[in-house]
Amino acid sequence: MNPAPAAIDFRANSQQVPPSMPGAVQKATAKFLGNRAALVDLLGNDLWQQLRQAGHEARLHAITHLDAYLIQAEQAVAKAGGHVHWARDAAEAQRIILDLARRHHVKLAVKSKSMATEEIGLNHALEAAGIRVLETDLGEYIVQLKGVGPAHIVVPAFHLSKEEIAALFREKLGVEAPAEAQALTQIARQKLREEFLAAELGISGGNFLVAETGTIVTVTNEGNGRMCTTVPPVHVAVVGIDKVVPDWESLTVLLKLLARSATGQKLSCYTQFISGPPRSEGETGPREMHLILLDNGRSRILQTPECRETLLCIRCGACLNICPVYNSVGGYTYGYPISGPTGAIFAAQILGTQAAGSLPFASTLCGACNDICPVKIPLTDILLHLRQRVVEGDTLERAVAPAVLRAGARAGALALRTPWLYRLGGRVLAWLQIPFQRDGWLPRLPPPLNRWTLARPFPAFQPGFRTWWRSRVRAGSRPQ
Ligand code: SF4
Repeated sequence: MNPAPAAIDFRANSQQVPPSMPGAVQKATAKFLGNRAALVDLLGNDLWQQLRQAGHEARLHAITHLDAYLIQAEQAVAKAGGHVHWARDAAEAQRIILDLARRHHVKLAVKSKSMATEEIGLNHALEAAGIRVLETDLGEYIVQLKGVGPAHIVVPAFHLSKEEIAALFREKLGVEAPAEAQALTQIARQKLREEFLAAELGISGGNFLVAETGTIVTVTNEGNGRMCTTVPPVHVAVVGIDKVVPDWESLTVLLKLLARSATGQKLSCYTQFISGPPRSEGETGPREMHLILLDNGRSRILQTPECRETLLCIRCGACLNICPVYNSVGGYTYGYPISGPTGAIFAAQILGTQAAGSLPFASTLCGACNDICPVKIPLTDILLHLRQRVVEGDTLERAVAPAVLRAGARAGALALRTPWLYRLGGRVLAWLQIPFQRDGWLPRLPPPLNRWTLARPFPAFQPGFRTWWRSRVRAGSRPQ
């Protein structure tokens, strides 16, 4: 069983954002959004909307028939010579991978970018067992050298400048590193080549898992993914159970949506299809291939109709790029490797609202994420549902908000539904506010209402519109 995760305090984290972060994030996200918009224009909005609808239906069909498709995928992977493991949670996934690593005397594991392995904290678990883990995606390699996690689900180090990366390489690798993109890439490439050849284990994620053939699909823009999955003698892929798609037809639609939404490309540079280990002596590749099907709370999400569509996510990152909150604070503020609107809804359910209950509130609810999501996830509806779960609690979670606030919110809701109670409440509040009122404002309120007035004054309650109107009529004047 996983230990209870530490609570994420989004508000406190947002006070720690370095001043350079918003500018760097906005510069990068503007580029991705511009590229995406150009490709959508090229395709035409009608066709794009049809693709989104098809993607939504394909993902919804897959997650509502997971039982059948996962079994189909498991059988197909086994038939192709791979080994399938089921992991209920992060601890079980770690244990399976550690057992495999021990059995194969692994000292060095190379990894391609995978949000599922970030989610289960795999690097820490392997390192604690004395196994060196090397991230090989360039962005992940950089943030690993820096000792931090990814700042974005697609482009982990996009907030760092060439100058910062060059300084990091000089410090950590002890090399001459000019602040020039090609030279920095060459340095990383040379370092990584040696490690690929030495590693005994390659670890990847999987963007999709095609049920009909048991094919793991990875979508990358760097060759490191292929090196991780083909050079070391053992390959382990950690794939969330939500990543299964029925067939290649659905996959084609989703691939078209993913690259366009993520980086504004028609297709990523490398789309790799892995259907088991090599089947004959002449073929090159790992001797063993293991697929870990990770649940870690996903089946619980599936049981909640209001939140089920969280699992449609294809991790394109478009909702991060468009989100005004993400653009103001960057990825680290979310305190979870998957950030932005998709991270907020995912983490609050995977970690629970006791630990990640601040994240559904990290949104303006402007709806830009809904509009851009290629698989039409109703992100703001899910955020609102989770906010309600945070405040009120439900069968899955205890309430986070204090009882007095919950009682106040319920009383407010009742008053808004009951006109006479609303009028009476208005009168009572107008009377109660007298000791706190200064020039039409309430600068300081007693606890727990002071959570608002600690930051800004609250406007004093005014007499209702009808009272005001009646007073004007009585005075014999009508407003123009
Ligand atoms: S929620 Fe939608 S836009 Fe956001 S990462 Fe997932 S698929 Fe992309």
